Amino acid sequence: MTIEQQLIVALRNVITSCADAILPAECAGCRSRGAAVCVQCRLDLVTAHRQHRASPADGRIRSAVSYEGVVRRLIIGLKYRNARGAAGLLGGMLARDLIRDGIQPGVDIDVVTWAPTTQARAKRRGFDQSEIIARTVAAQLGLPVRSLLERVEGDEQKSLTRSERLRAPAFRASATKWRKVLLIDDVITTGATLAAASGALRTAGVEHVRCAAVAETPRSRRFEGGCVEPVFAALSTAA
Ligand SMILES: [Zn+2]
Repeated sequence: MTIEQQLIVALRNVITSCADAILPAECAGCRSRGAAVCVQCRLDLVTAHRQHRASPADGRIRSAVSYEGVVRRLIIGLKYRNARGAAGLLGGMLARDLIRDGIQPGVDIDVVTWAPTTQARAKRRGFDQSEIIARTVAAQLGLPVRSLLERVEGDEQKSLTRSERLRAPAFRASATKWRKVLLIDDVITTGATLAAASGALRTAGVEHVRCAAVAETPRSRRFEGGCVEPVFAALSTAA
């Protein structure tokens, strides 16, 4: 990002913060005025969480909720209207699920990271929603959060075949001292993003990659990617 672009993003964030301080907040889910997430949307989210938990996915990635209804509205609010109130709720829910799965921070996971979105999207929005969620999850688990992945874009992507480009985004990670990484994404669709990001972390020397996402689209329940930890298979069916 150029200095001008960084200034524009910083200015936009200041204006948003000022507007938030003066105006009553707008619900990230239904846009009613009064709270960052209104009581009704919170209740709907709790129900969605309970239902998802009761019918665990057959994949091996922990996800907190299904990407539909109120969850979809909250994530769209987070992505396109910078409605960050939703990130705390969704990230907190995911962190609690991981603890309930038996994950021990500091033993099973050393650090939290995220699969970055494209630079163009992050620039347009002024933030990366997966990073915000990863930071919330890390804070809840009492773990450090680090940017370990870079998205391979533009000219570099041209070296890939067309089918490779269409199949999955590509990521790169530098050699790292971290050995047990929790990799966060916002929504799992095919699992291709997490599989590619997970592969890059392993190439960089990470021994264990655990994947988690706030939500999964209903069709992603048949995930067959490469981001597989046996523990998740056991945990997701034992829930
Ligand atoms: Zn609402």
